Amino acid sequence: MKVVEESYAGRWSKRTKYGRFQCGLCPRRCSLRPGQKGFCFVREATDTGIRLSAYGRASGFCVDPIEKKPLYHFLPGTTALSFGTTGCNLGCKFCQNWRITRARDGGARELSSVPPAGPEAIAWTAQAEGCASVAFTYNDPVVFAEYAIDTARECRKRGIRTIAVTAGYISAEARPEFFSFMDAANVDLKGFSEAFYRRYSLGEMKPVLETLVYLAQETDVWLEITNLLIPGLNDTKKGLEDMTAWIANNLGPDVPVHFSAFHPDYKMWDYPATSAATLSRAREIAIGNGLRYVYTSNVADPIGSATFCPKCLEPVIKRDGFRIGSMKLNGSNCTDCGQRIVGHFTGGHELFVPGPKDSQS
Ligand code: SF4
Repeated sequence: MKVVEESYAGRWSKRTKYGRFQCGLCPRRCSLRPGQKGFCFVREATDTGIRLSAYGRASGFCVDPIEKKPLYHFLPGTTALSFGTTGCNLGCKFCQNWRITRARDGGARELSSVPPAGPEAIAWTAQAEGCASVAFTYNDPVVFAEYAIDTARECRKRGIRTIAVTAGYISAEARPEFFSFMDAANVDLKGFSEAFYRRYSLGEMKPVLETLVYLAQETDVWLEITNLLIPGLNDTKKGLEDMTAWIANNLGPDVPVHFSAFHPDYKMWDYPATSAATLSRAREIAIGNGLRYVYTSNVADPIGSATFCPKCLEPVIKRDGFRIGSMKLNGSNCTDCGQRIVGHFTGGHELFVPGPKDSQS
């Protein structure tokens, strides 16, 4: 196994006045003196530049169904080798992975049982495990962009796809290179107001919307969106109307949207879990605004987890949790009416679809 460097020269940074370096990877643009760490805690200024201390330092690996990312229109039924590091460039008070995203000590505890892993070893492992893809997830891959990009390079040599599970909080200059190495992305749209982003995620919404527009309009990256609904905070009718209308008008009606259930965690133990009824209501609002593929997740919901043909309205993919229950697709087309269902339904090499072989594509 290739030896992993303990640190790695961070990119997208420049020297500024008074011996400081400015990180240009995300909109925070941290200005750091040697020895100082950025908001994300994994990028640190040295005397010569900024280094990524998390390079090669995964906080955990797991072979997951791709539906868990969640991606419902990208190689359904396949598995993704999933990993992340520590640190994050947002500060969501409702973070469900806060033990790794907010690790202030470089994540020593989280990393203690995980051996260093270089890009080549990760791609090799994905192949050996029969995974169709590698997912950069658990924390935001933007903060470990160099590690993710190098891993993606190794994956491409082996025909393994790559997935960014991200909040999309990345600078305009880093965005094209980072996403040029991704085949699919699930972007977590936290809410639909600057006030929400400022107060509950300690960031801004505008760069996230710019990332979404960039992905939808200027790349071939397969895009799906997740919105975690927190009761009383970002689940108002008006907020959901505004958000889903914006998605339909700016990204198009075919971008799949997942409404996900919040569970009390981190700094928001005093908020209730999201009910299935709230998720269903959000789904109805989104469909009312013209979105064609809208899902509910983190709850048992046979309707909200199924993909319906937008023409004949028959379910073309039924899901049971993260597993495929049945598929009625011929390639990418509905077997009942022939309508094309958007997404990547071929190219995976490990399917868990029971039933007739000709329905597996
Ligand atoms: S990636 Fe980290 S160090 Fe760079 S600007 Fe963002 S928070 Fe700061």
